[in-house]
Amino acid sequence: SAREEGSSHKCFYTPDLDVVVNTRVAMKSGLGRALERDEFSLVFQPKVDVKSWTVCGCEALLRWRSAELGNVSPADFVPVLEETGLINQVGEWVLENACRQRRALIDRGVMDVRMAINLSVRQIRPTFPATLLDILRRTGLRPSDIELEITETVLMKDSDEVVLVLHELAGMGVHLALDDFGTGYSSLSYIKLMPLHTIKIDRSLITDIATGAEDAEIVRAVIDMGHSMSRRIVAEGVETEQQLAHLRRLGCDEIQGYLFSRPVPGPDLLKLLAGLSSYA
Ligand code: C2E
Ligand code: MG
Ligand code: MG
Ligand code: MG
Repeated sequence: SAREEGSSHKCFYTPDLDVVVNTRVAMKSGLGRALERDEFSLVFQPKVDVKSWTVCGCEALLRWRSAELGNVSPADFVPVLEETGLINQVGEWVLENACRQRRALIDRGVMDVRMAINLSVRQIRPTFPATLLDILRRTGLRPSDIELEITETVLMKDSDEVVLVLHELAGMGVHLALDDFGTGYSSLSYIKLMPLHTIKIDRSLITDIATGAEDAEIVRAVIDMGHSMSRRIVAEGVETEQQLAHLRRLGCDEIQGYLFSRPVPGPDLLKLLAGLSSYA
């Protein structure tokens, strides 16, 4: 098969393409029923302040357990949600449930852990701020209790509508984070014009930071320039003590990754942060 021939032929003519197409078709129909079948859930991954080594935030990550396909990765199904437009409905479900989890933390005395939620570009429409305000009101949260993560490609679209909505959200007091920085082509000078509180450096730049001099220099430059623009810097996908030591030396503000914790279900997050011992 093509796989055995090595990487030079992958993705083109192989029978695997049928599998890919069939899986996409199955995903499309499955995703259309996933909300009513209650197949979505959220897991939460802590973000840790490098200086104090305390949890300062967490990120809500969507999970889908399909009746037909089993567990599907968001890297595979989120693009399908975006294509079909289902992302708006599902995105609202994510917002509502992530906000409920934030509320549950506050109710247990955990005040200073901001809840980060990933946002697709298709969700950033003129009606979005009102939708969000409604969810915040229903869950009893302030805008500053949450942070919205958007990827570089959102900014690269350079649409006036998107930029306006981002400014409106920031004006409300919602924190905005630039996700996966280093995978696209946006320049830091462009980022400077955007109302972003946080820059998240993509895992691909963090992986070799302890062994590859070049990546370490890039990360140093991002941290220094980000700080000169008063942005907080988060490193994604930190897995080793060596990576952490480097990031600490370079002045990174927060880390997120398996080193501290994998993403965990809501009850485990409460246990972790609110010290609940008898949580089922
Ligand atoms: P992301 O927002 O950049 O999330 C970080 C991803 O890295 C997550 O993958 C997380 O589980 C993974 N990760 C965290 N720490 C480590 C680590 O130390 N090592 C490794 N190898 N991986 C780590 P996940 O949960 O599979 O999500 C993938 C992507 O799917 C997310 O990337 C995000 O772009 C998208 N996504 C997830 N949930 C949502 C959602 O609710 N809405 C939207 N629009 N996109 C979502
Ligand atoms: Mg994210
Ligand atoms: Mg990311
Ligand atoms: Mg990502």
